[in-house]
Amino acid sequence: MRDLRVSVTDRCNFRCLYCLPETEEAANFYRTRWAGAPGGLPVTRPIAYEWKPRVELLAYEEIERVVRVAAGLGIDKVRVTGGEPLLRQGVEDLVGRLARIPGVRDLAMTTNGFLFPSKAQALREAGLHRVSFSMDSLDAANFRRMTGRDGLAGVLEGIHLARRLGFTPIKVNAVVIRGMNDHEVEDLAGFAHEHDLSMRFIEFMPLDSSRAWQRDLVVPGSEILARIHAQWNLVPVEAPDRPSETARRWRFPDGRGEVGIIAPVSEPFCGHCNRLRLTADGKVRTCLFSLVEHDLRPLLRGGASDGDVALRLVEIVRGKEAGHRIGRPDFVQPARTMSCIGG
Ligand code: SAM
Repeated sequence: MRDLRVSVTDRCNFRCLYCLPETEEAANFYRTRWAGAPGGLPVTRPIAYEWKPRVELLAYEEIERVVRVAAGLGIDKVRVTGGEPLLRQGVEDLVGRLARIPGVRDLAMTTNGFLFPSKAQALREAGLHRVSFSMDSLDAANFRRMTGRDGLAGVLEGIHLARRLGFTPIKVNAVVIRGMNDHEVEDLAGFAHEHDLSMRFIEFMPLDSSRAWQRDLVVPGSEILARIHAQWNLVPVEAPDRPSETARRWRFPDGRGEVGIIAPVSEPFCGHCNRLRLTADGKVRTCLFSLVEHDLRPLLRGGASDGDVALRLVEIVRGKEAGHRIGRPDFVQPARTMSCIGG
């Protein structure tokens, strides 16, 4: 285990159809032919989410302690995520604390980018190395339908600012959903080429809060790749020293920009997975699809020593699943969604 993803909040300022949809109509997008609705879906039945109360969230000192103990056990890559991590007040303070932990050589954040311009400088100064943005569409209207927010211009501004401030490499993630944004695959790849960044296409996973996931909404990575290949003659990027990398990567022939395919549904890479997750309320998960969570809060708040926390982490890791069970008859979707687990 080398990679720890730390969620700092379960809240989000976006309402992506496939994650935290705004309304019942949006949640059932696959049935309501959402794409035909000109201004997005009518807001008739809003979904009232219940967020975790503040006291249940780990304090920054508590997160720092878990990361320090984990780093002592070999974790060297830490990603701050959420929910939307930039919604948590003073997240740059946490970044600063994590950046100072010996052994953390790679400190990244995943964000929808909307609030990034107001925090970028502080995050850079605090020691954040890299940022991954989520951007599913380059078409403002489609972006709004998918995320429930008029946010494309803000996200683009965030991406360009990240470049100017020297965050490298810049990755942009797009979840591809059949009939929703799969017609934009080539445009999104073109964006990576034009701006010399890494565009990563992610298969839609059964982690949505509305349980609307259906296999035929998943656009397999191989199909995405074939379509991009038809336009550009991509060259594979070999990374034999990084078997645990989630993305299979290709670069454009002129060396500008890169495309990654993350295909956990059609081509699971569980055997190489070296990731652990810490939820905002202090639960450790050994897989995105774990049905069991391991609560560290009683230890952290009950006077346990760092040694006790370390032992618990080792014990938890020993029980890591061999793989997820998507597509198998006994697959059970976890109770918590991507926004709570931390993507
Ligand atoms: N708010 C931040 C963001 O938007 O990047 C971080 C958290 S978000 C849950 C992390 C990533 O999970 C995003 O790239 C999002 O698109 C992805 N995601 C959420 N639900 C998903 C699903 N059901 N299948 C695949 N990816 C999903």
